[in-house]
Amino acid sequence: LSEKLSAAFKRLRSKGKLTEPDIKAAMREVRMALLEADVNYKVAKEFIARVTERSVGAEVMESLTPAQQVIKIVSEELTALMGSESRGIHINSKPPTVVMMCGLQGSGKTTHSAKIARYFIKQGHRPLLVACDIYRPAAIDQLKVVGEKAGAPVFELGTEQPEVIARRAYAHARDHGNDLVILDTAGRLHVDEELMAELGRIKEAVPVDETLLVIDAMVGQDAVNVAASFNEKVGVDGVVLTKLDGDTRGGAALSVRAVTGKPIKFAGVGEKLDDLEVFHPDRMASRILGMGDVMTLIEKAQETQDEKKAQEAAKRLLENKFDMNDLLDQIAQMKKMGGAAAMMSMLPGGAKVSESDLEGSDKMFKRMEAIIQSMTPAERAKPALIDPKRKRRIAAGSGTRVEDVNRILRQYEQMNKLMKQMKKRPKGGRRRLGGMF
Ligand code: GDP
Ligand code: MG
Repeated sequence: LSEKLSAAFKRLRSKGKLTEPDIKAAMREVRMALLEADVNYKVAKEFIARVTERSVGAEVMESLTPAQQVIKIVSEELTALMGSESRGIHINSKPPTVVMMCGLQGSGKTTHSAKIARYFIKQGHRPLLVACDIYRPAAIDQLKVVGEKAGAPVFELGTEQPEVIARRAYAHARDHGNDLVILDTAGRLHVDEELMAELGRIKEAVPVDETLLVIDAMVGQDAVNVAASFNEKVGVDGVVLTKLDGDTRGGAALSVRAVTGKPIKFAGVGEKLDDLEVFHPDRMASRILGMGDVMTLIEKAQETQDEKKAQEAAKRLLENKFDMNDLLDQIAQMKKMGGAAAMMSMLPGGAKVSESDLEGSDKMFKRMEAIIQSMTPAERAKPALIDPKRKRRIAAGSGTRVEDVNRILRQYEQMNKLMKQMKKRPKGGRRRLGGMF
């Protein structure tokens, strides 16, 4: 989608002043792009009408940079379409807060129950995960596995009725000081009455504060229908949009909110437990517009980066003591951030990076690590020691070629040079992007 939109905007950018036909032509392309992204037809039509109305008129015509103004309007309207502001979950002042995860099979309920638990653990809460999917024995085990990874206890009563499990879990949470109860419920392949009735009984059994509908972004247009029926039959407070990492079109994010009126609260962006973001409509809008989600990237970098290590590395750099051990640390930090693939997809224009490029860069980091690990402590501390003979040994030890070793030494040199230049700049600029990358 962003590629199409960029093309449409490029045409606008190349013109000095906007005319009404210009806007109309651009809007035709925006509409095509939206429909191709699997955005609901009605949503796209209304969207175009709103943007056109705002664009054709004094607001744009009098502006000095009309093209920029149109982009701003499109961006604002995209943001509004997705719900304007970001919100997570409201935590009750009187615990526990009960969150019920619901959705179709495979949408990501179990995974996101654990992701949300982890998210709140990081903020000092004590969530309890509850296994209400009683139909497959593997479902309870799966929740236990991800619960353990997240560091959250899991409450289960085998194949007892889901509403009974929910009620007992609620009491258990109160008795054990869990201020958040996350109910992982069963899904079906399609929306069906039995499932809806079951979710209804759970809601009667415990005071559910947030019913979160988990939607797989990759199902596109269908997501809207799913959301509409769940909302009608069970009542939904918000949406968790999962697998956004695999959805290049972004259509579901645009339509779900517009059709159901329910905000998207969280976005799932990968299989790992840390791959969860509070959904920011403005950021999603700029992502769709191809501007990249630089804010999210920076936030993620700050969250994951071990501040102390980063500061140490920075200090050593300034003193020209940055060595291969520091580089190894930096690579480890990169991996924690979800690797090069996750980072690059968040950079402006990142959407155009191909799958194989990303795989290639992840491989590159693994190779870099192997090479550094094959260096002796002395070599790591003083890379200048590494002569051709040592290079051959390191290459053999790490299963790489001498040219790979050369490349990493060159990169190390370049970084050192770069850092010497940065020394002259005001501090802060370097650390904000997660150390040196
Ligand atoms: P449930 O049936 O609704 O409980 O779905 P699960 O939580 O078991 O998830 C189904 C599959 O989707 C699993 O293989 C997950 O690893 C995968 N998955 C869940 N969320 C995401 C996500 O945000 N991104 C990606 N790439 N995969 C996800
Ligand atoms: Mg499940």
